[in-house]
Amino acid sequence: MTPLAREIAELIATEGPISLARYMGLCLAHPRHGYYVTRDPLGRAGDFTTSPEISQMFGEMLGVWVLSQWDGMGRPAHVHLVELGPGRGTLMADLLRTTKALPAFRAAVTVHLVEISPALRERQKAALETSGLAVRWHDSIETLPEGPIILIANEFFDALPVRQFQFDQGGWHERLVGRDEEGALQFGLSAEAARTDLPLGEEGDIREICPDGLSIMTRLAERVMRHGGGLLAVDYGYARSGPGDTFQAMKGHAFVHPLAAPGEADLTAHVDFAALGRAAGQAGARAHPLITQRALLMRLGIEARAAALMQGHPNRAGDVEAGLSRLIGTGEGQMGCLFKALAVSAPGMVPPAFDMPDPLIDKISP
Ligand code: SAH
Repeated sequence: MTPLAREIAELIATEGPISLARYMGLCLAHPRHGYYVTRDPLGRAGDFTTSPEISQMFGEMLGVWVLSQWDGMGRPAHVHLVELGPGRGTLMADLLRTTKALPAFRAAVTVHLVEISPALRERQKAALETSGLAVRWHDSIETLPEGPIILIANEFFDALPVRQFQFDQGGWHERLVGRDEEGALQFGLSAEAARTDLPLGEEGDIREICPDGLSIMTRLAERVMRHGGGLLAVDYGYARSGPGDTFQAMKGHAFVHPLAAPGEADLTAHVDFAALGRAAGQAGARAHPLITQRALLMRLGIEARAAALMQGHPNRAGDVEAGLSRLIGTGEGQMGCLFKALAVSAPGMVPPAFDMPDPLIDKISP
């Protein structure tokens, strides 16, 4: 048993079964034993690898997005560049390098990182030491200063806790984490049907709701409406809300049972982009039709950047090519279609790369 498993078992013994969201929140963010709080989970030696860790081109292309977004906003003299869940700081470091070509942007920008993990904050500090810009850290979006904002988030929303509901005998029952007779953690269902806005389902259907993701999106959309700006969220997820159990645990690049090692495995759920888009829309902002990571990166010019890198560094051409195909490829194990990009802005503007629909989205989404 992990120390956190013991603590959760005691909690359940006194309070009764807990929601999946509470379980997931404790596993990821418990102040002493939480997965993100205690380690750097990224990279080959960790549990999973993300786009910015695969190739510098990912952060560079997001740099292009940020610069043209700022341009589209009319080049405000002060702008807050915010990243949610910056991991090792690699994305922001690559992104800020590309802004060196535009001194006016660097004079206007203040950089803010929203990060709960002390271990990862250290990594971010080291990665951004030579960026030439001051960086401020925040525990949550609540302390971000007011003003025009450009916000990016890669694999952030998938790390937020989800509630799950299962359709059972005519109603939605919440999936809970309880204990079996020996005290081991096990899944169960609430006896009472839960009050939700979910449409009727079929027996056994599972639906997921990410309350933190929705409220963060609402707050960000409100900020965009107050001061102008835009946000770009890249993640794996689905284009239309629907039934499905996407809650999963990863340890050492392999799937494990999500109740097996609380605090020691990465827990995620796919992002319901339609729900996030609705939350932004309800706050008055515009959620632009979803595009694939492939379309995002290609429209921002990743192929030209790859060609330039290969020409400039022939000895690294193989790596550049492998990184490119992992990021934009559509085959098994490639991220081009699996990952999608959502942009939110004030209604009057269209963020870079979102000026036309992506036909791939309809092909891959049910
Ligand atoms: N964006 C990075 C890391 C993704 S992992 C990359 O693409 O490589 C998820 C990141 O979100 C980690 O930095 C983790 O510590 C952070 N995180 C998870 N939950 C968070 C929360 N509630 N608030 C702020 N950061 C969080």
